Amino acid sequence: MAKLAFLGLGVMGYPMAGHLQKAGHDVTVYNRTAEKAERWVSEFGGTMADTPTKAVAGADIVMACVGNDDDLRQVCLGDDGAFAGMVGDTIFVDHTTVSAAVTHELFAVAQSNGVAFVDAPVSGGQAGAENGALSIMCGGPQASYDAAEKVLSAYSRVCRRIGDSGAGQITKMCNQIAIAGLVQGLSEALHFAQKAGLDGRDVVEVISQGAAGSWQMSNRYKTMLDDHFDHGFAVDWMRKDLGICLATANENGASLPVTALVDQFYKDVQKMGGGRWDTSSLLKRLQALG
Ligand code: NAP
Repeated sequence: MAKLAFLGLGVMGYPMAGHLQKAGHDVTVYNRTAEKAERWVSEFGGTMADTPTKAVAGADIVMACVGNDDDLRQVCLGDDGAFAGMVGDTIFVDHTTVSAAVTHELFAVAQSNGVAFVDAPVSGGQAGAENGALSIMCGGPQASYDAAEKVLSAYSRVCRRIGDSGAGQITKMCNQIAIAGLVQGLSEALHFAQKAGLDGRDVVEVISQGAAGSWQMSNRYKTMLDDHFDHGFAVDWMRKDLGICLATANENGASLPVTALVDQFYKDVQKMGGGRWDTSSLLKRLQALG
């Protein structure tokens, strides 16, 4: 059993840290808004600290799951940041979805302090975090990954090292690129069924068993047809992720025409007031068009 710290108890981090404590590890949590850390300690046990520096004291492995590049920089390098409290031979595992650029930057700073940095973004959503069934895609030195892998199994269904630092974040970009067009396609199919006067449930119960089936179709069609979007993976986060994908494509020369188009559709959803709606709200945009 390891001494661990977990920084960021949001939709994802809260249940992930809970799985670590339930697995028998000694977990100290930090959350910017202290009430969430207090609630976490009363639910799972463990301890809380009021700064990242204090939370990581004595930890073998530190996990973080915060918002974007700037948030991660702040949690690592800011006043009372995690790196100030980490010593050699410890490992920082970043579950935030961020750019490969900030990953390389923080990897280098950590390395200069003798600390290992593993990028480890996740897929599987809120349900995957709560059920301990996330897909984790990692980048970083093999030895650091090997040392962290067993601990990460507390909340992963699959966890794999893809390559050197940044490879986990590039893999997460592939994940988001694959999802973007798919959710638009699913939204168009449900919109089309409604316009044709068919029951969307009947349609999906058949086509989900064939070549059109997908995680998005199986897990989202009911809430989409019920017009429920106040859950899941926020449109604001998806725009952050697609922005990272499109900026990276500008650098590596990849052509992402559908991703660019769907990013604009999500901009429309934000204008409709749906920044915190689930990404399946692309259906709501089509319905608003008539
Ligand atoms: P969330 O519910 O909004 O939680 C964000 C967490 O980060 C909160 O604990 C927040 O603290 C903390 N935070 C943000 N900025 C901070 C800062 N500058 N300093 C310190 N703490 C800060 O987000 P989430 O849904 O858990 O997502 C977290 C990350 O996982 C994002 O990168 C997201 O893209 C990724 N992700 C999310 C999902 C999903 O389905 N939700 C799936 C895969 C990946 P406060 O409580 O004080 O606000």
